[in-house]
Amino acid sequence: MLNLDEKFITLDNFGHSMRAPAYVFKPTTAEEISKAFELANKTGLTITARGAGRSYNDAALNGGGIVLDMSTMNHIVKWDPQTGRVTVEPGVTLEKLWQRVEPDGWWPPVVSGTMYTTLGGCLSANIHGKNNFKEGPIGEHVIEFTAVLPTGAEVVCSPQKNADLFYAMISGLGMLGIFTSITLEMKRIYSGLLEVDARPSYNLHEHLTDLLDLAPNYDYVVGWLDATAGGRGLGRGQIHAARYLNEGEDPNSQKTMQLKSQVLPALIFGVFPKSILHYFMSPFVNNLGTWAVNTGKYIASLPRHTFRESHAAFHFLLDYIPNWELSYGRGGLIEYQSFVPKETAEAAWAEMLRLSFKRGLPSYLGVTKRHRPDQFLLTHAVDGFSLAMDFKVTNGNRTKLSQMLQEFDRIVLDAGGRFYFAKNSETTPESAQRFLGEETIAGFKNIKKRCDPNNLLESDLYQRVFGTDKT
Ligand SMILES: Cc1cc2nc3c(=O)[nH]c(=O)nc-3n(C[C@H](O)[C@H](O)[C@H](O)COP(=O)(O)OP(=O)(O)OC[C@H]3O[C@@H](n4cnc5c(N)ncnc54)[C@H](O)[C@@H]3O)c2cc1C
Repeated sequence: MLNLDEKFITLDNFGHSMRAPAYVFKPTTAEEISKAFELANKTGLTITARGAGRSYNDAALNGGGIVLDMSTMNHIVKWDPQTGRVTVEPGVTLEKLWQRVEPDGWWPPVVSGTMYTTLGGCLSANIHGKNNFKEGPIGEHVIEFTAVLPTGAEVVCSPQKNADLFYAMISGLGMLGIFTSITLEMKRIYSGLLEVDARPSYNLHEHLTDLLDLAPNYDYVVGWLDATAGGRGLGRGQIHAARYLNEGEDPNSQKTMQLKSQVLPALIFGVFPKSILHYFMSPFVNNLGTWAVNTGKYIASLPRHTFRESHAAFHFLLDYIPNWELSYGRGGLIEYQSFVPKETAEAAWAEMLRLSFKRGLPSYLGVTKRHRPDQFLLTHAVDGFSLAMDFKVTNGNRTKLSQMLQEFDRIVLDAGGRFYFAKNSETTPESAQRFLGEETIAGFKNIKKRCDPNNLLESDLYQRVFGTDKT
């Protein structure tokens, strides 16, 4: 398998706005991963693991180096429907996981907004869901994992065993070792449906107040923020607050927990294949088109209502439209997500939204969530909120957009905020130092020296934010 005559393949990020060629290998065992490290040692090349490549930035890119595509290590090794414990290889996707456990009355405790991510990628980024305020990030539900380190050693980590590695590798951007086996605890459910309360929010103050006040009474809270609305409607949108159904509340629970009731339909209006939908979206992915679509969506969201929806439909709304990111055109998109304390979020985001109008670069999709802090080393969480904003990238706006996002960084940092390494593509070493602190970065680098003395693991993201350690 390991031979550099392999095809040198150009990989990109999820938003198709960043690209880098690399030697791509697909290991199927821990031994093959060790061999890749031997090859890197011999050739002087660096290695980056790649799950499903769903990061919005360069986390899974390694220009000129080796990329280990983990997607073939995708077996569910052990599933116990009595205890809800599951052991998986790192290339198992959330899709494969929920489809296995849901019919038995379980659901993954934390999921991303797409089901196509892998568990290895989810641990490395330490993903958060719409229940972050309650359940924390995915790392809090990991019982144990096994990883191969660049030294060739195989380590088993849990909150009790090799705890420093446990808290550093989860959130560690794949820069300390490669996960080979992950054991997690699932969440018991009594219905395939969630009950969702949908309510409009008329401005940013109300939007954030609703997120804050609703969270304690629900299992999930998420907001859609119309980032094209200014004036008195700045920060308006819609909040969805959802709760699990208790035992007995769903008379058809056996049916609703079957896959048929969860799987997203392949046809729109029963006729058009969803795979062509992104072509119809493209003409609206510009300032005027998005303003018109958002205004329509906001008006439609004004009546408060309650409805029941499958877990898959609630969590993976974006997956409804395959390849939706292609509607952003040739330059692709980037996402900017900031995590800001609840005391300062309103002022910071009002300033950012106004700045985006001033620059003529409004975000076409805004999503808000409620968060709480966690104890992982490279944590992005705060006791506050997150706002994710998608931006269209074109040849004409790339520099201007990048400059605006640097200004956003300053606003977020002044507000005591943090960034998420799976999303932002503009974070600089200075920004990372300000929110992580020198001590945390030094602590991470010390652990890295121990796990990876020859600096074999490096991604484009790591080089961009932490600099290369390779001599
Ligand atoms: C539409 C969409 C919605 C999203 N919604 C959310 C959300 O709600 N919440 C959230 O937190 N994130 C969200 N994300 C981000 C996504 O969850 C993360 O980027 C996640 O890391 C992607 O997983 P992946 O398998 O594609 O990993 P990749 O993007 O391929 O890699 C991510 C990182 O994991 C490392 N890695 C991969 N496999 C391994 C392994 N076996 N061992 C060690 N390191 C490894 C890589 O080196 C890289 O640093 C979303 C992304 C998309 C595209």
